[in-house]
Parts: sequence; structure tokens; C-alpha cells
Amino acid sequence: MEKQKKLYLGTNTKMYKTIAQTQKFLTRLREETEDISREKLELFVIPSYTALYHARQCVQPHEIRLGAQNMGWEDTGQFSGEISPLMIRETGADLVMIGHSERRHVLLETDEMERKKVACALRHNLTPLLCVGETEEEKRLGLSDERLRTQLKAGLYGLAPEEAAKLWIAYEPVWAIGVGGTPASKEYAEEKHGVIRRCVEELFGKETGRKIPLLYGGSVHGENAPELIQRENIDGLFIGRAAWQAESFASIIRTVLPLWIRR
Ligand code: PEP
Repeated sequence: MEKQKKLYLGTNTKMYKTIAQTQKFLTRLREETEDISREKLELFVIPSYTALYHARQCVQPHEIRLGAQNMGWEDTGQFSGEISPLMIRETGADLVMIGHSERRHVLLETDEMERKKVACALRHNLTPLLCVGETEEEKRLGLSDERLRTQLKAGLYGLAPEEAAKLWIAYEPVWAIGVGGTPASKEYAEEKHGVIRRCVEELFGKETGRKIPLLYGGSVHGENAPELIQRENIDGLFIGRAAWQAESFASIIRTVLPLWIRR
């Protein structure tokens, strides 16, 4: 299979870092990674909404791309508490995470809501990072592949191949994420990335499907990152806790980037 041009490595800081903490983290991450060429690395950070504008002031887009953790699906309107794509663009961010497990399972977002957000992000030239993943129960019942295919077919419904080519997808099994999560084994993660790859190829054609970066997320850390990144269908890692200290994140980047280049 044709190799992705870049390795995708990023983190979502959830509801943890304040503006000052985000700036400190980004400044440190930039310093820790400034000697690493971005030719083969797409490094991104997804801070809280309130920190986005300030985050953009301390790092350049070619050093670290910035994204929002969520987005409303209308440009303006009677949607108190929502943030529109225009507002995200105004901060300087050009990426938006859609359908994170916490949005789906804690805040009860549906596949249809994610579909509207993906379409809206693309209309505004924001790169959507659509997160998909099965629950523990779905895994136990042998429904994982169906769940992934449903989330993809519903969430990406109606997109043209040229729009789909701008997407990123993260496979984040719900049982693997966060405190108490169990990371997927490299074999399991690769198998599910294969299911996702085949589904996007089916939806948008082989050429486009092959190009969509598929990132694995869920309890990635310094020890399992190297083996995950060497699997054929894993184009990047979406890391939570293990990346929230700039030094640990930089150390993961330094370990996996050469392995991925040699893959
Ligand atoms: C996440 O919340 O998307 C995530 C991957 O977190 P962690 O790496 O901490 O499991």
C-alpha cells in the first residue's frame, strides 16, 4: 500500500489545561521538537476552546497545528453554548475534532450530529478529525466492525471523494480511552484499522480511501507507541495522558518517527 506522506502525532488536552498551562505546554513542545523536520511529521494539539487563540500566538501552524475539541454545525444562530466554525477559524485553528468518545457517550451526541459537523467543517475549510470506536459491550457481543462501519457510513454520508480526501479519522475504542482504559493490542488495532480502511475505500474509492490518515488513540504511551506505529494501516497516534507533558510527548515523537520512516 502506498505510504502516507507524513506521520500524524497529536494530543487532545480535554478539559485539563488553562490558557496559561496551554501556552506553557506549547512553548515547551515547540522547543523540544524544533530540531525535528516537519517534512514527515504532522504534529497537532487540540486545546480547550478558551485557549485556542492564545495558543496560536505562541506557535506557528507549520510547527504545531491547532484544533478545536468540538464544533456546532451552523455558522450562526440560536445555539447558546455552541462554538461555530467561523469562531474556530477566527482563533487561527484549522482542525476540528468531531465525535470524541466523551462527546458521544457522556454528552450523547449521535452519528447524525457528527455528520452535520463533518460537513460543516469541510464547508469552512477546517480539517475534520472524526473519532470512531466501539464500546466494551459492543466488542463483547462481536459488534465492533458493525459499529465502526455504522459510525463511518452515517458520519461521512453524502461526502464527495474530494471532500473525504481532506478528512482524518481516529480509531479510539471506548474501552481503551482514559484512566482505567486498556490499550488495544497492536494486532487488534491493526485489524480494526483494516476495517476502517476497507470501509472508506468502499465509500470513496480505493485511491481516496488509501489517502485518509487513520490514527490510533486509547492509552498510547512510550512503551506501546513503537509497536503500534509499525503496523501498515496505522498512520499516526492520537495521544491523551502520555502527551500532556511536553518532554514525554517529545520523547514519544523521537522514538516513533524514525521507526515509521523505516517502516
Ligand atoms: C483520548 O481521550 O482520546 C485518549 C486517547 O486518551 P488516553 O491516551 O489518555 O487514553
